Amino acid sequence: MRRSMRHFLRSTIGISLLISLTLWAAGLSDAVGHMYWNVVAKWTRRPAPESVILVSVDDFADLQTRDEANLLTQIRKQMPRNVFFDARIPVGINGTGDAELARAVSSFGKDIAFVVRAQKPDRFDASMFKFPSKTIVGNAPIVLSAWNSNFLYTVESAPYFIELNGRKYPTFSTALAGQYAGAQSVYYPDISVGSDSIIKISGRSLLERGAALGILTGRTVVVTSSGQAPLVGYFGTEMVQPIAADIAGAEALRKPISMNLTFLPLLALVVGAISAVSRIGRQRVKLPLYAAIVVATWCVPAILRKFGFVAYPDVPLLMLAIYGSIRLWQKRTRRIQHTSLSGLPNLVALSSQPLPVGRDVIVAVVARYEEMLATLPRDLHGECARQIARRLSVGSGANDIYHGEGGHFAWTEEARPLEMQLNHLEGLRALFSAPLQIGTHTFDTNIHFGLDRNEGLDAVTRVNSALASANEALGNGRSIELFESHRLAEAPWELSLHARIEEGLRNGEIWLAFQLQFDFAENRVSGAEALIRWNHPTRGPIAPDAFILQAERAGRIDTLTYWVLEEAITAALALNATGPRFQMSINLSAQMVDKADLVTNFAEIVRRRGIDPSLLTVEVTETSSVRNRPAACHNLTQLRAMGFRLSIDDFGTGEASLAYLADLPSDELKLDRRFVSRLLTSDRDRAIITNTIALAHDLGQSVVAEGIEDAATFSMLRELGCDHAQGYYLGRPQPFAVFVQEYEESRRRGMMAV
Ligand code: C2E
Ligand code: CA
Ligand code: CA
Repeated sequence: MRRSMRHFLRSTIGISLLISLTLWAAGLSDAVGHMYWNVVAKWTRRPAPESVILVSVDDFADLQTRDEANLLTQIRKQMPRNVFFDARIPVGINGTGDAELARAVSSFGKDIAFVVRAQKPDRFDASMFKFPSKTIVGNAPIVLSAWNSNFLYTVESAPYFIELNGRKYPTFSTALAGQYAGAQSVYYPDISVGSDSIIKISGRSLLERGAALGILTGRTVVVTSSGQAPLVGYFGTEMVQPIAADIAGAEALRKPISMNLTFLPLLALVVGAISAVSRIGRQRVKLPLYAAIVVATWCVPAILRKFGFVAYPDVPLLMLAIYGSIRLWQKRTRRIQHTSLSGLPNLVALSSQPLPVGRDVIVAVVARYEEMLATLPRDLHGECARQIARRLSVGSGANDIYHGEGGHFAWTEEARPLEMQLNHLEGLRALFSAPLQIGTHTFDTNIHFGLDRNEGLDAVTRVNSALASANEALGNGRSIELFESHRLAEAPWELSLHARIEEGLRNGEIWLAFQLQFDFAENRVSGAEALIRWNHPTRGPIAPDAFILQAERAGRIDTLTYWVLEEAITAALALNATGPRFQMSINLSAQMVDKADLVTNFAEIVRRRGIDPSLLTVEVTETSSVRNRPAACHNLTQLRAMGFRLSIDDFGTGEASLAYLADLPSDELKLDRRFVSRLLTSDRDRAIITNTIALAHDLGQSVVAEGIEDAATFSMLRELGCDHAQGYYLGRPQPFAVFVQEYEESRRRGMMAV
């Protein structure tokens, strides 16, 4: 019980309820109530009852008690139902007049009463009421008029009786209505009674012309003069003579019920209704129901008031407004946190909450996601994302998969030991080897992961890190990229990479190393691979893997590539000038192969340098990060047509090795050093190498084995029919001068010393 109470108070409804009750306690809901009753009064306005007629003494130029005596006599002749004397009585000016008035009054017997009004609003003590002279009033009853009002002095209720000096006087409205008791001690005016439609005639014209005879007959006549009491506020109009409130009070009292229900029953109903509606799942039904609740909250008090029940809608309306605002706000933030098409929460949602402890952040990026969407009709885009998310959810065991732009999906997972986590992700990747079936479309996809294990850091940083790592994995064709926090410190360095590369090229920090390639058939050094080097003055030697990647990410790889090409040509020209045919290999980044100007730039350079392109081998790695695969194939085919040799680097490590081979007309395969290094120890790797060599030869390609570190591997490769060899065993990458020296030496010996 206590728990469900606590739960309720934390819910949106509970919070809105608390806020609105607080506003009520602070008196701020009164303003809402005031506006509400103003509108209701205007909308339900009806004429005042004809049973009451006012006879005004205001137009007597010099009012005397004699005039009033005459007036009463005249009124009596018309046989009114009863008379209330609510006017100034100028006693003491004319003695005989005073006596005449007293006589006229007493002639009415019980059918006349004197109205005494409070001189200030909301005051009920004896000092507020000025009683008329006893000599005039005689035994005639006295009724009082005083009102409780709201913060704008608008009348709200009046008591049935007011007690002054131990005597109970009925209030004017009760006397008008002939109702002296109710269920409660106060009654509420019928605010639909229009104040300007009260029938009022001039006392003077009644005296002079006798007025329309019989107009007063059977009616309640109120002899009035203005200025008897201050004006009062009245719902739906400006300030009015208080008689209007008294008449409205009498109208309310004529109804069988006059009862204040306060705001509580309506508030309870509203709370019940919105909690019921909020539990409905169907969004489309919800909105009209909420609207119905608002309309009902608005109409019900107005209708109830017609029957004498005063129910306040102020707190309920406030509560609805607050509830509505909170819900709208929640919806808006939720919309920001959901990608519209898939309905999955987005990365903002993931990074806007604190991540639980002991969890890794993982971002998966689906390769060629945009291409996939491009072939799908728009209405299937969401389904596509949901299907991927489902697969990831099943594979990872994570309940919530967050969807970012461009094929990114993120989630958190228990931080297992790194080895286990990597294996787990590799398994997840295997799940994606089965094609996606979306509508009638089938897609082969590939997925790459970015992993962030830096607990301690905030969610935004971690999600972004995992995201960047996933992109990096996609970019370099790796399945998983781990984000290491120390790389954050690298960011400024990476950002200024361009300037540094230019500087490095200018001052010789960046240079080209050459690693020999050995030809098994010719038994000689037949070429070299140009490998870039950077000896940074403060950072020391930077591994090419590292800065090539950064240059790619920073879009600065072009400068480096063309510089390498020029240097490699210089070297190739020199080596070919003095000896037998010497083949020079350069590496072409995956980020470059699909560039539109690649072929024209290469063509321009070889033409200018006057080199036969067939002396140059272009090594490309097979990575999925090539964004525009058709353009890449086109470029490479063009280069080959120009005479360049084409080599597929790191063969066997990528994702679509064979497919790549089928697409690309290449001249050479480079067996990745991961296979080569295990050639002697792993039967599986030996089988791969044997088969790859056979396959390559069938396709008319030659095979280069790289990463040969010992004599045994070297001779085994010779046995397996490999064409070329490269590795530390034969020679390390060397500066050009050193390379030339060793090359010349090997030539003098006639063959390699191996
Ligand atoms: P890669 O194209 O696979 O280059 C071969 C890498 O294997 C070189 O590393 C080389 O030093 C290393 N290596 C050669 N023999 C052995 C061996 O017997 N054992 C072992 N463990 N390693 C050996 P390096 O120079 O660090 O280059 C790494 C990667 O950087 C290259 O891999 C290539 O992808 C890239 N790279 C190097 N230079 C360039 C360049 O000019 N342009 C582009 N785009 N990428 C380059
Ligand atoms: Ca290479
Ligand atoms: Ca390689």
